Amino acid sequence: MRTSLIALVVSAGLLGCQTVETTKQGTVGVDRQQRMMVSEQEVNASAQKQYAQMMAEAQKKNALDRDAAQVARVKAITSRLVPQTAVFRPDAQKWAWEVHVLTLNDVNAWCMPGGKMAVYSGLIEKLQATDDELAAVMGHEISHALREHSREAISRQMATQTAVGVAGAILGVGQLGTSLGNMVADVTLNLPNSRTNEVEADRIGVELAARAGYNPHASITLWEQMAKLSSGGQPPKWLSTHPSHEDRINDLKAYAQKVMPLYTAAKAGPSAGK
Ligand SMILES: [Zn+2]
Repeated sequence: MRTSLIALVVSAGLLGCQTVETTKQGTVGVDRQQRMMVSEQEVNASAQKQYAQMMAEAQKKNALDRDAAQVARVKAITSRLVPQTAVFRPDAQKWAWEVHVLTLNDVNAWCMPGGKMAVYSGLIEKLQATDDELAAVMGHEISHALREHSREAISRQMATQTAVGVAGAILGVGQLGTSLGNMVADVTLNLPNSRTNEVEADRIGVELAARAGYNPHASITLWEQMAKLSSGGQPPKWLSTHPSHEDRINDLKAYAQKVMPLYTAAKAGPSAGK
């Protein structure tokens, strides 16, 4: 059965491709079909393993959650942003969301598939980020995870691999287990996002922040801060995985403006100011 299925898949050249829409449009209206060649479950399970290993290593190096005040801030912002993800995908409420602060000088933050996040102390300290700006960074990272950009990037890599590898990927990651984990970490932490991904994460990110009661215009001051650090000689690590483009600021301004009513409503609501 398996062998014939592989033969079928390979000979038909179908490559097990599945077209999905990972998120609902929300107010910002992100709408793009994505081609996936590996299941969400497999990617999230690999991410979870990889994340646990990384946090255990950080713990060993005494670089995990060392500053209680920073951890409390980051956790508070996360707990306000995560409930807002339901607008884009209700299933994300069931994800095993987790966030830690790593003591690392790099200006960086990321969110792995399935909601496993890290914020580096370098980002908090060097940017002297306000809560609104931290929410902008984290909202942006969460949006990459909601849109499953890592799974999409892995799928694209798989499409260029051999047919046998691809068939293995469709039928289960048994043989590919380790390499899938490495791929998840690589695409999330190291590889630059495409301009399309960046626009999507920017737009969804400002909506998440606004709905959570964080000023969406902070995404603009955040980029200005990043630019200042770049001119200082050492470009933030975050910029290598989140390449900017000319009209980014204009796009952010337009979309921050668009979600202002959500921000105003959140500030006026009963849960405001928590
Ligand atoms: Zn990004």
